Amino acid sequence: MKVNSNFGKLAGGYLFPEIARRTKAWQERTGFEPLRLGIGNTTEALTPHIVDAMKKKLDILSDRATYTGYGDEQGDFALRKALCDFYLREYGVSLAPTDFFISDGAKSDAANIQELFSPDSVIAVADPAYPVYVDSNVVGGRTGLFNGNTYDGFVYLESTEENGFIPEPPSCQVDVIYLCFPNNPTGAVATKEQLGRFVDYAIREKCLIVFDAAYVDYIRHEGYPRSIYEIEGARDCAVEINSFSKNAGFTGVRLGWTVVPETLAVADGGQSVLHGMWNRRQCTFFNGASNVAQAGGLAALDEIGRAECRSLVDYYLGNARIIREGLESVGIVCYGGVDSPYVWAKCPDGMGSWEFFDYLLEKAHVVVTPGAGFGPAGEGFVRVSSYGHRENVVAAVESIKRSLS
Ligand code: PLP
Repeated sequence: MKVNSNFGKLAGGYLFPEIARRTKAWQERTGFEPLRLGIGNTTEALTPHIVDAMKKKLDILSDRATYTGYGDEQGDFALRKALCDFYLREYGVSLAPTDFFISDGAKSDAANIQELFSPDSVIAVADPAYPVYVDSNVVGGRTGLFNGNTYDGFVYLESTEENGFIPEPPSCQVDVIYLCFPNNPTGAVATKEQLGRFVDYAIREKCLIVFDAAYVDYIRHEGYPRSIYEIEGARDCAVEINSFSKNAGFTGVRLGWTVVPETLAVADGGQSVLHGMWNRRQCTFFNGASNVAQAGGLAALDEIGRAECRSLVDYYLGNARIIREGLESVGIVCYGGVDSPYVWAKCPDGMGSWEFFDYLLEKAHVVVTPGAGFGPAGEGFVRVSSYGHRENVVAAVESIKRSLS
């Protein structure tokens, strides 16, 4: 057989393996255990109401009379309906339950959605970005080679200090744009006007927006849309991906969803075929999300569940504030970390991302994530994650402060 040679083009995969390699080498050399502010993995326990719902579901499955096996590939209708009600209640957005497709998490959907795009599609991504958007399209053959900095044929929309880490829509014609707000890694959040410019572009150019809202529950300030469907016209040009990972702590439980409205009308010059194609894709290649996880998801959306998720998110936002204030107190310029779990810290003294990574590992024994690993515009920054037990976050921040003062 012949392998998919596009795998050979993947260069972005360096990031987390390279962090692990450098950290391990440092550990072996020094014998120290590092303090970790690198990964976006949740650390706090599942909450009681949500756990209770999952336990009850297990009881149902433990009885032959009430046991069920495979569910609908699109997800339990009760959960799809609850999400639909939730969008109306919390965002004022009216969709149909059948617009919601339940999945085992946002990462799979973010990676799989490209199966709907023609191989010759031109793809744009906000830079820096969650690596899945780029890598899935590399594997799908929509790029040329990695030229040491970017992939040929890909359109990078630079997020910089100058534009407040919110890029403008492309100046050329593209077929798909990936956006994520609150952003991983920069922590930036787009306003209605800023997102509106992308929606206007998408409608004009018959372009699809893939909007990743995995961190939406971290938005605590007014004036930011929490769903792209709050923007007029978005249901004609955008799919929205979301997850229970970062608000309910489901990073290990696994549950997410994607909204693919029936009204989407950007395919092949204006046809409404994407909903049917995604339905077909999911029914053919996916056997539905875990029924136990879906019971937990349903509980996460009711009043008690929402309150529990809110306090979980509050905890990480508290960590983010400690990180941001701590770094700023020793002169580090910081962005994000307010309506987001990530602080985007500017490397001091003109250091590069990896240089500052090495510095913090050596001098503070703290692991962060080099911004350059998220795309060329991430060079000169590191991402500091608020996912960690409070005591470890405080210890890491104190250590960074000592190393820089
Ligand atoms: N989208 C973004 C922007 C993320 O940062 C992450 C995880 O870090 C995911 C999606 C993955 O979410 P899930 O755990 O639902 O697969």
